[in-house]
Amino acid sequence: MSPNPNTKTGRAQLARHARRFGHFHDRAKATIAITCPLCKDRPSGPEPRYGESVNQALDALLDTHLLYDCPKGPQKND
Ligand SMILES: [Zn+2]
Repeated sequence: MSPNPNTKTGRAQLARHARRFGHFHDRAKATIAITCPLCKDRPSGPEPRYGESVNQALDALLDTHLLYDCPKGPQKND
């Protein structure tokens, strides 16, 4: 069963999957990026805030991408 990007659980599974395959932390530019497992786009964003882990920041980045930007995300289904 493949994760369902319509649900929070599904998006969390996708984020875990994505982290295993490719994420980037550019310390020089203070940005992070993660490859979307659905569309192979690579959304990027600022480094984690104080007290936030890189994984949490990557998950949030992908979650936002899936919800608003991903051509294969939930908003394109209806
Ligand atoms: Zn995507």
